[in-house]
Amino acid sequence: MHILILGGTTEARALAGLLHGEVRVTSSLAGRVASPRLPAGEVRIGGFGGVEGLVEWMAGHAVDAVIDATHPFAERISFNAARAAATAHVPLLALRRPGWVPGDGDDWRPVASLEEAARALEGLGDRVFLTTGRMGLAAFAACPQWFLVRSVDAPDAPMPARTEIVLDRGPFSLDGEREILARHRIDVVVTKDSGGAATAPKLTAAREAGVPVVVVRRPPVPSGVPVAATPEEAAAWVATG
Ligand code: NAP
Repeated sequence: MHILILGGTTEARALAGLLHGEVRVTSSLAGRVASPRLPAGEVRIGGFGGVEGLVEWMAGHAVDAVIDATHPFAERISFNAARAAATAHVPLLALRRPGWVPGDGDDWRPVASLEEAARALEGLGDRVFLTTGRMGLAAFAACPQWFLVRSVDAPDAPMPARTEIVLDRGPFSLDGEREILARHRIDVVVTKDSGGAATAPKLTAAREAGVPVVVVRRPPVPSGVPVAATPEEAAAWVATG
């Protein structure tokens, strides 16, 4: 049995670890990060060349099932996986960590896109902590505010005129996040609703500091695709499939 995991997340790596030794497992990475953390099992890196390329790759490598364990905001590859799996009649499961839920004291401003997030910043202060990743900075390029941009690899232009970049990769600690908000006198945080524990401490730090958080809502999982919330659930799907 050969399982293809579309990866690039902590959960995808954990799933590869669970399946490795039980079945043949290949993890696919987009190749966006210069030195990615590699999962157990076989790894391939780079795009497939759209839906057709993915269908061909699955046929050429005798893939029995696909698990789309990509980031909740990696919308294109998830859409391609749904189309390719339907075309090739290969079972597909989406592994999606649950989204974050606001608690008492949280001041969250939900928005539908990065562009809307940029507009939502108006009136929320001059100093923005932007944690939405290095892709999509263009949406904020015309913003007059000062930005602290945190990303794994250095972002490319266009980006806001007043930007300081900090290169770092989660997990992040609560103490570290408190320190960032205080040292940079952050007025507002911007995040995607990525979910998971690794990057959640910024939300707690923001709540404690009374700082609003602009939260970009997730795109939907392609219709008809079953969803598992944890690597263990996804491994059970493989075992029973
Ligand atoms: P995307 O917009 O959904 O995909 C763009 C193209 O990148 C896809 O059409 C595909 O190229 C290629 N691709 C994406 N994920 C791939 C994978 N796992 N294996 C092989 N090719 C892949 O993706 P994205 O938002 O740029 O994310 C890229 C990767 O970074 C994903 O693996 C994702 O899990 C990870 N990631 C994304 C975010 C985020 O916020 N978007 C955050 C953390 C990690 P072809 O059409 O040529 O096949």
